[in-house]
Parts: sequence; structure tokens; C-alpha cells
Amino acid sequence: MTILYLVKGNLYVNITNRCPCSCTFCIRNEAPGVYGSDSLWLEHEPSIDEIKSEFDRFDPESYGEIVFCGYGEPTERLDVVCEIGKYVKSKFGKTVRINTNGLCNLINQKPCEPMFEGAVDIVSVSLNAPDKDEYNRITRPKWDNSFEELLLFTKNVKPYVKKVVLTVVDVLKPDEIEQCRAIAEELGVDFRVRKLD
Ligand code: SF4
Repeated sequence: MTILYLVKGNLYVNITNRCPCSCTFCIRNEAPGVYGSDSLWLEHEPSIDEIKSEFDRFDPESYGEIVFCGYGEPTERLDVVCEIGKYVKSKFGKTVRINTNGLCNLINQKPCEPMFEGAVDIVSVSLNAPDKDEYNRITRPKWDNSFEELLLFTKNVKPYVKKVVLTVVDVLKPDEIEQCRAIAEELGVDFRVRKLD
């Protein structure tokens, strides 16, 4: 099974296949892996020790950032994200990013923002839609208040990390993209339109 894999010069970390959403565009429905990786479906969720030993297989000079992403929502295992984030920052001096759906407070049933301090540098949150109805249609989340919670998390995590980015994929209509950009501006975070894989 694949725990670490290279994507465009960054080292991606795949720690879980759990996710409370079922996005209509999720790559998991299309292929077992991405960017030439072997299957990202895990035989089991890797332990902290398994993840740490995987880093020994990669020359730190061969990649830039560490990115928690993979075939699931990383904050389903937020304790692991925090421990591994701190480990790789102290051992390799790398920037640590997390690509998240922004629902970690609902997933973990507590305010999680302070946990990111010292473990994660960049939080990239998938906004996906300009309003609640469209968000629920596209991402099909487990909780009805997911859109509101995503926005709250995006705002509240700012003091604990260096950068927060709201992202959308480029399949949205131009006016929807501009509405999403306005949301990011209102929250005081960066905004990025990413290409659909
Ligand atoms: S949040 Fe990410 S992993 Fe979860 S269903 Fe959506 S695209 Fe897939």
C-alpha cells in the first residue's frame, strides 16, 4: 500500500481512506491511484512508526513540501497529522501543508484549530461551492451544517498557521468562482482555483 508518494516535486502523505463527504468529482471514484502512484487504498491505517519509517525511503533533497492529502480526509486522524507534522518539520525542516475539507471540528467533535500550531504551516481548504445548497449537492457531506463549519474553521485556524487558502476546482462557472473569491477575501485568506485532476 502507498503511504508516501511524489506529486510534482512534493511528498504526499496518505494516512486514511475515511472521509465524511462523497464528492461528485472525487478522484477516488475514478482510479485506484494518482500521479503514477500505486494504489492509495490502504490495507490498514498506518501507525506513526510505519509512517516515520517510510520517510527513510525518500531523500529529503528530492522533494519540497510535505502534503497531507491522499485518498481520504487527513483530519480523520488529526493526532497523527500533528505528530508527523512536527516530526518532519524538526527532522527535515520542510514546509508542511494539509489539503482538507475543513470539517475537522465536526469529525473530531471539538474545536481543533489550536492543534495545528507548530505542526502545519499551510492549510488548504476545499470550498468547492459558493453557497450551502450547492456545497451539499456537490460534496454530499455527512452533516447538514458542514458549509458553515468549513467557513468557521477556515477563519479560526488563521492564528495558528502561516497561511490558509480556500480552493475551488476550475469546473465552477466564472460567476461562482468570483463568489468563492469574495468569500475568501471576506475571511482574509488566500484563494486558489485548482485544476480538476
Ligand atoms: S472530501 Fe476529498 S476525499 Fe472526501 S469525497 Fe471529497 S474529494 Fe473525495
